[in-house]
Amino acid sequence: MTALGPRPRLLPIAPHPAPARRALPVIGETRPVDERWRPNYAVWEITLACDLACRHCGSRAGRARPDELTTEECLDLVDQMADLGVKEVTMIGGEAYLREDWLDIARHVRKRGMICTVTTGGRGLTRDRVFAAKEAGIQAFSVSVDGLRESHDALRAAQGSHEAALAALSYIKESGLRSSVNTQINRPNIREIPEAFAMLLDLGIKAWQVQITTAMGRAGDEPEILLEPYQMIEVLPLVTRMKRLAQKRGVTVWPGNNIGYFGPNEDELRGNWPGGHRGSCGAGRRTLGIEANGDIKGCPSLPSSDYVGGNVRDAKLRAIWEGTKELRFMRDHKKEELSGFCATCYYADECKGGCQWTSHVLRGFRGDNPYCHHRTIELLQRGVRERIRKVVAAPGEPFDYSRFETFEEPWPEDERKMAEAIVATNEGWLPISAPSAPRSSSAA
Ligand code: SF4
Ligand code: SF4
Repeated sequence: MTALGPRPRLLPIAPHPAPARRALPVIGETRPVDERWRPNYAVWEITLACDLACRHCGSRAGRARPDELTTEECLDLVDQMADLGVKEVTMIGGEAYLREDWLDIARHVRKRGMICTVTTGGRGLTRDRVFAAKEAGIQAFSVSVDGLRESHDALRAAQGSHEAALAALSYIKESGLRSSVNTQINRPNIREIPEAFAMLLDLGIKAWQVQITTAMGRAGDEPEILLEPYQMIEVLPLVTRMKRLAQKRGVTVWPGNNIGYFGPNEDELRGNWPGGHRGSCGAGRRTLGIEANGDIKGCPSLPSSDYVGGNVRDAKLRAIWEGTKELRFMRDHKKEELSGFCATCYYADECKGGCQWTSHVLRGFRGDNPYCHHRTIELLQRGVRERIRKVVAAPGEPFDYSRFETFEEPWPEDERKMAEAIVATNEGWLPISAPSAPRSSSAA
């Protein structure tokens, strides 16, 4: 792995998450389009409490929020989700199992006929907890494994966390529940992904979800963790190689929403998806995000400051889903909202700028996404590549973001040839460059 230096902020990094902003305006009138879109899938942070302190954690999890929903409020929210049409609820944290009533919530999700799954770092997912989860009706776990032991433990900031995650996977397997592994690709671990993936295949995993680390929360504190946009040239072939290996072992590879878009690898990665390729962002259309204090977003990953539409203590979930501009933005998306390269892109109508979360948390706006395979190849043909440089530090709240700027530079001749070879063969690596120095002292 590429070594990480000391953390730029002391722990706890979000010592006192701010209480929810309350009484945000709800637009009274509901349009047909707002009734047409229903959230199939809800991702619910049931607590911000966590037993890890990951350096790439977007929500800066650690301590519980000061105003998390009570059990009664959670059960009522489950009813509201079911009534709104949610089909599957994934409980996350922090760590969901750190809430004493996590299984009561799960039981109610199941009682209301929805699928209930959990995403976890697995550090405290003991055998007893797994079997209790099974008894409560939880159907599957996704466990985060970010590379080999050394880099996983460094990124997750806890010695033994890699071992614990693998132990959790073994308990889940023993219980007969479905399990998958999710992995983030970033600057420290990119080179060891093949070795780490081979280890996971040997463990007998059935499914692997992969995404790149975005510049949200703590990850934005440390540019050393983030890939350069031009590295999508090697990320997509890397995921493609892993998928080829996985297919021989009957393992499903699920490229996450920021692995894309529309380049030469799309057919191999998503050819079996509806339409044969990734669609556009599902925030506020098929996806719902909930924070532990009852704040509602169209996607769990979106930054809270810009995308919380309302709070279930102030309004019904349906009213927030149908009647707030923060939840409507993808329903109302217009091509004119795209800017920069995305505005000129051949795929813009279909793609709509890729993952809105990934682009927004990088530069503070959506609709122009430098982390795009198609874009990096087009720029390569012009002999240029995009890099990032931090310009403003994040305030230090859950789901916040620093500000980066992108800049173009000519590909060094030798690296350009390597990049062209990777595009042609799906094999090879680029040299790992040092991150660019921040532009001002406020970016430290
Ligand atoms: S350049 Fe933008 S619109 Fe085009 S494929 Fe990439 S992310 Fe999508
Ligand atoms: S913002 Fe990204 S992760 Fe969230 S729904 Fe849209 S594409 Fe998916």
